[in-house]
Amino acid sequence: MTDFTKTRAMFHLPEGMIYLDGNSLGPLPRAAVDRVTKTVTDEWGEMLITGWNKAGWMDKPMNVGNRIARLIGAEPESVAMGDTLSIKVYQALASALEMNKPRKVILSDSGNFPSDLYMAQGLCRTLGDGYTLKIVAPEEVLDAIDETVAVTMITEVDYRTGRKHDMAAITKRAHDKGALTIWDLAHSAGAFPVELAKAGADFACGCTYKYLNSGPGGPAFIYVAPRHQAAARPALSGWQGHDAPFAFDLDYRPARGAERMRVGTPPILQLAALEASLNIWDSVDMAALRARSLALTDQFIKGVEATCPTLTLATPRDHALRGSQVSFRHPEGYAIMQALISKGVIGDFRAPDIIRFGFTPLYTSDADVAAAVDVLAEIMAKSLWDTPEFKTRKKVT
Ligand SMILES: *Cc1c(COP(=O)(O)O)cnc(C)c1O
Repeated sequence: MTDFTKTRAMFHLPEGMIYLDGNSLGPLPRAAVDRVTKTVTDEWGEMLITGWNKAGWMDKPMNVGNRIARLIGAEPESVAMGDTLSIKVYQALASALEMNKPRKVILSDSGNFPSDLYMAQGLCRTLGDGYTLKIVAPEEVLDAIDETVAVTMITEVDYRTGRKHDMAAITKRAHDKGALTIWDLAHSAGAFPVELAKAGADFACGCTYKYLNSGPGGPAFIYVAPRHQAAARPALSGWQGHDAPFAFDLDYRPARGAERMRVGTPPILQLAALEASLNIWDSVDMAALRARSLALTDQFIKGVEATCPTLTLATPRDHALRGSQVSFRHPEGYAIMQALISKGVIGDFRAPDIIRFGFTPLYTSDADVAAAVDVLAEIMAKSLWDTPEFKTRKKVT
């Protein structure tokens, strides 16, 4: 069993702050300070260019990918690190579409994060030739998978409501209808156990700065199922995904396996921070993580519903349909979240009316949840949100 009081002590959590936003940006692992400093001083500083060999920088994208693989139920050597999630979505989509010609429909849902939809729209424009993105309601995804669909591009957990799709069922239906699947694990990796291989997923991608705590701008990951690795042609054919980058051939030839999804020079400093976080993750039992996450979200839902009658739960009560966040709706959600932040309870707001709280067992305690409920209850009871200051929108919400 994982001792979550021990993992909590491994993070820097600012004094006086109750942090319920690890689903947007995870906190600093204490060991990352030393790890990044050493990478800067001992590796970059002393080794300079020789660090690519001596410090193993060149192998980091696949080595780190193998450590992420355990958390998402992926086979060894099937996960590559690099770039940002938007880029990885584009790569997975471009490869999957090419593999499933002549179909031209990308199926996604209105609960998907807009960047995924934008990347798909941009790719459709570039491809022309009738490629389209079809967007349906989250509840309609399963029935919307028919013989016209080339690929489903679904984010497993809805960033607004926290509603979780049934990965196994959707993947099965897609395969029955001849479609490929891309799973975006932005709100899954590090949030609960994921079983990509077991579900038979074709492609997946996700970011590491949310539940995996790699810090702002940390690299994304992409998964390619072993059975597709030879056929998946990289649309972004950069030199680091070449079979022999240092042969400097004039012609592109993809590397074997998922490594072909590398594009350019990997972010070594961010990977160092991520490695410090993965040292914590290595000891975490994913089933225990899930049990703890559900206990925390249940506790929060119960507390808020008992004290804040004007907030409407947007997150499913059914555990099977819930990620690791809880959201409530209120027309003045933005101002309510600003009032919470002013009192040290950090969540975020997602338009049009959602206040959102992430629950991250590695460092969220029962006492945090109880205190957050008390602060929210006071804000609602006394309408403390109702000031011009809290109603003025900032750039990042
Ligand atoms: C957070 C998130 C992103 C962000 O993409 P970046 O390229 O890392 O900025 C994309 N898609 C989903 C589903 C997300 O949750």
